[in-house]
Amino acid sequence: MTETMTETHAHTSHDVIVVGGGAAGLSAALVLGRARLRTLVVDAGEPRNAPSSHMQGYLSRDGMAPADFLAVGREEIARYGVELAEDRVTDVTRDDGFTVALAGGGTARARRLVVATGLKDELPDVAGVAERFGRDVLHCPFCHGWEVRDRPFGVLASSPASVHQALLVSRWSKDVTFFLHTVAEADLSDEDLRRLAATGVDVVPGEVAGLVVEDDRLTGVRLADGSVHAREVLFVGPRPLPQTGLLERLGAELEETPFGAYPAVDPTGLTSVPGVWAAGNAIGFSEQVIHAASGGYRAAAAIVGDLLMEDLDAAVTP
Ligand SMILES: Cc1cc2nc3c(=O)[nH]c(=O)nc-3n(C[C@H](O)[C@H](O)[C@H](O)COP(=O)(O)OP(=O)(O)OC[C@H]3O[C@@H](n4cnc5c(N)ncnc54)[C@H](O)[C@@H]3O)c2cc1C
Repeated sequence: MTETMTETHAHTSHDVIVVGGGAAGLSAALVLGRARLRTLVVDAGEPRNAPSSHMQGYLSRDGMAPADFLAVGREEIARYGVELAEDRVTDVTRDDGFTVALAGGGTARARRLVVATGLKDELPDVAGVAERFGRDVLHCPFCHGWEVRDRPFGVLASSPASVHQALLVSRWSKDVTFFLHTVAEADLSDEDLRRLAATGVDVVPGEVAGLVVEDDRLTGVRLADGSVHAREVLFVGPRPLPQTGLLERLGAELEETPFGAYPAVDPTGLTSVPGVWAAGNAIGFSEQVIHAASGGYRAAAAIVGDLLMEDLDAAVTP
């Protein structure tokens, strides 16, 4: 059983602290534990895909409940002595190692850090969207498109870039209405309009005021003028808010992208701060669960080598 701790980490010392126990963090912890490194995972327990009851597209785990996936991961890391604190890291400082402060009280120290804190989705401010998110309000056709295929789709524009989403989802349904919402039709390029027409996407101007929900199912999208468009699925484009606060506190270099600012990392996830790796949605918007797990593995393997070299160098230095 996973060793779950809260305040008992006061002033404890580990080889590695992994901040975040989603796919990225647990995967890193599994590899670190198996490499016999003393590892602590601190997890605040708010994985990004929590609103969804099923996780798709992870080979061999397709359709598994996200909570079950994480429960299995927690069991696996416990086999190798990895400790898990159900807590939140509120601060981090660096000297000859790293000291993290825990919301539940106390601190923990380690020689290396993995930041796997994920991102948060800021949903469009439209009545009903937050309540239905992960059910029939969706953001990612790769995650959920198959399950809702051939149903009447809406796509809620949040910028002219939403055209891409409207075109993309047409792979999963030929009945797509693109609600321009706050985007002016004049802001769409001729190429956008040609592509939307070629794909058969219906473009509807006007602000969206809310969703129509009957018997706990989305049945329509209501515009500000009162008209209702019958739709069973609505795709939205949440604004990603990368959870990079701890990295910023350590002075990590961030790079702006159209989807937020993420740490500059090398192929192993090493940030610009020596000793600090990052993985999963903490390094990029499009990291799916399988990428996050893979990134955690890569970071962990690099840390194993890095610590080994440090220890060897220390041993041979007179
Ligand atoms: C509705 C929805 C459905 C999705 N469906 C799919 C799908 O079907 N298939 C797929 O591949 N992807 C899916 N995704 C994407 C998926 O959620 C991400 O790829 C995945 O969660 C990334 O894993 P992660 O470990 O980087 O972050 P997360 O899973 O978000 O885990 C990060 C963890 O870090 C914790 N944390 C954050 N800050 C701190 C802190 N300071 N201290 C301690 N802990 C902290 C959080 O509480 C959380 O538990 C979906 C996303 C959404 C929003």
